[in-house]
Parts: sequence; C-alpha cells; structure tokens
Amino acid sequence: MRQYPRPLGKLINELARLPGVGNKTAQRLAFHILSMDDKDAFRLSDSIREAKQTMKYCSVCGNLTDVDPCSICTDDTRDRSVICVVESPRDVAAMEKIKEYRGMYHVLGGAISPMDGIGPEDINLRSLIVRLQQDDIKELIIATNPTIEGEATAMYIARLIKPSGIKVSRIAHGIPVGGDLEYADEVTLLKAVEGRREL
Ligand SMILES: [Zn+2]
Repeated sequence: MRQYPRPLGKLINELARLPGVGNKTAQRLAFHILSMDDKDAFRLSDSIREAKQTMKYCSVCGNLTDVDPCSICTDDTRDRSVICVVESPRDVAAMEKIKEYRGMYHVLGGAISPMDGIGPEDINLRSLIVRLQQDDIKELIIATNPTIEGEATAMYIARLIKPSGIKVSRIAHGIPVGGDLEYADEVTLLKAVEGRREL
C-alpha cells in the first residue's frame, strides 16, 4: 500500500485480512470509513473493542457469550436431558432460529480433520464427556455439518458415547452434502432435526 499515506494503507491492510474481503473491497471500505462522521466511525471501532473484550466462550457449552455460563445454559425452562452438538457458535444461532428445539447445546469449536492435523483432542470434546458424566443426559443430537469432517466427527462421537447407553442421533435430511448448517433455512433445519436417525 505504498501509494497511500501510512494510516490509510494500514487500515486497508487490516480490512483486507477479513474473510471474503479482497484488496479492492478493503480499499472501498477504508475510503468509506474515512468519509463517515467521526462518531459513526468510532462507534464501529468501539464495538469491535467491546465485543473482543467482553465476549468469551461459555465454560459449560462452549458457545460465545458475554456472561458465563451463557443464557442458554442457565435457562431453567430448557430440557437439560438433550444436548445438540454443533461445530460453531454460528450453528447455535441457526438452531435457535427454529425455536422448536428447547434442549441444550455443546459447541465443538471445529471438526475432526486429519488432513488439517485436527484431532479429537483439538476440539471441545473433553468438556462434553464431563457433562455426560455429571448430568442426566438422555440424548445427544449430533448436528455437525454434512461435510467429510463433520461426518467423521459425528462418527467419532457416536462411537465414543454409545457404550454409555445415551441415545446418539444425527440430523439427517434436508441439509445438502457439503453444506453449512448456518446457511440452512429454518424449515430445512427443523426437518433435519425431526428426521434425525439414531447412530
Ligand atoms: Zn453455555
């Protein structure tokens, strides 16, 4: 970014590091930010700072939250005997949109991927085992993405949990193979949960 004054070049560089933002978009955004009112631009930077400083991962379920444990883990109206296992906090948000699901969650923070060197010990699995030992869990619904990694993770967890006698099911229909849970519409996701099969 030698053609730009240093502070502008720096802003463009930072924006270009965001996913889905190429150099062109980064430049457009940077010029837009500079054209904004000071208060609007500072509100944007303040919101990034505040979110980074206050958001954390729930010590129980691994979901993103500003209070620990998160509001789902402390909600007494939810069914504590069912845990839905997902890959990311974004998947919790997608599941919550369908409203029919009133159980708990466990966020793995990724999926097992030997190709990328990500093994079972690299995802948030240990705390799931602790929950299964401590709480009276009747069913585990595995809602990892229908990708090779998501399927491998589902199979691994099923094999791990099955001997304990807890019912382990996998959401089934509607989510296209290779698709992402967070992009599924609510009806598709509801059907996928309803059509889950036991593993
Ligand atoms: Zn939680």
